[in-house]
Amino acid sequence: MQQLSGNLFIISAPSGAGKSSLIQALLAQHSDMQVSVSHTTRAPRPGEIDGVHYHFITVEQFKALIEQDAFYEWAEVFGNYYGTSQHTVRQSLEQGIDVFLDIDWQGARQIRQHTNSAIGIFILPPSLEELENRLNTRGQDSAEIIAKRMAEAYSEMSHADEYEYLIINDDFALAQREFSHIVLAQRNSFDSQLSKHHSLLTELLAKAAK
Ligand code: GDP
Ligand code: ADP
Ligand code: 5GP
Repeated sequence: MQQLSGNLFIISAPSGAGKSSLIQALLAQHSDMQVSVSHTTRAPRPGEIDGVHYHFITVEQFKALIEQDAFYEWAEVFGNYYGTSQHTVRQSLEQGIDVFLDIDWQGARQIRQHTNSAIGIFILPPSLEELENRLNTRGQDSAEIIAKRMAEAYSEMSHADEYEYLIINDDFALAQREFSHIVLAQRNSFDSQLSKHHSLLTELLAKAAK
């Protein structure tokens, strides 16, 4: 993807570390940010709404979308397919909206092959015990699914060093502040400001716009 005016953030973590909670808390405070709604073949959890949390589709539909080159990235995670729509992400970035991708490390690698302007943020839990505790208290997955996610936690965490930023989500309020500071600082990076305020900066900093 070419340089677009919104910022692209990749958020990854082992399941239950708190990425969805951190993203939702930030979105509640900013109207010019969005989370990309992925397509998935996993079954909806109680309370999950099609088109809001995910686009829930069948394996056949997912494969047809792969054939149509509809995905910016896709991966198999915990035995299900997950993918990010190319069109939707591009459209939001073009409108100057910052976009969060809540995706696994395999998807993050694919995004980095397309662009060097995505910012990766990895979320870790304070301990494995606490991770399991959160998956249990979230109360949305069966014991078998939780065991599968715990078994995959090390594999996901082993990729944390591929990301620019690391947050340890122990105290939620602190993690939320750290997350917000990273995102807001990135918005004020020179390149980001240049693409958002191109004509102003062309006028004020003639050389910088070249
Ligand atoms: P959570 O980990 O509890 O949020 O569980 P989910 O079932 O929502 O997500 C499962 C895994 O799939 C996580 O590692 C997500 O980051 C990953 N994931 C979700 N959507 C996408 C996507 O569009 N692309 C990729 N590559 N991974 C995704
Ligand atoms: P993920 O999207 O990474 O799978 P969630 O955001 O769904 O994780 O969080 C998993 C569970 O842990 C949720 O029930 C959430 O309310 C809880 N949680 C998230 N962060 C914290 C925290 N810092 N302290 C205690 N519980 C948390
Ligand atoms: P869950 O099934 O709990 O909603 O998500 C499980 C994992 O799948 C999470 O780690 C989440 O980040 C990842 N995931 C969700 N959507 C996508 C996606 O579109 N692409 C990739 N690569 N991973 C995703």
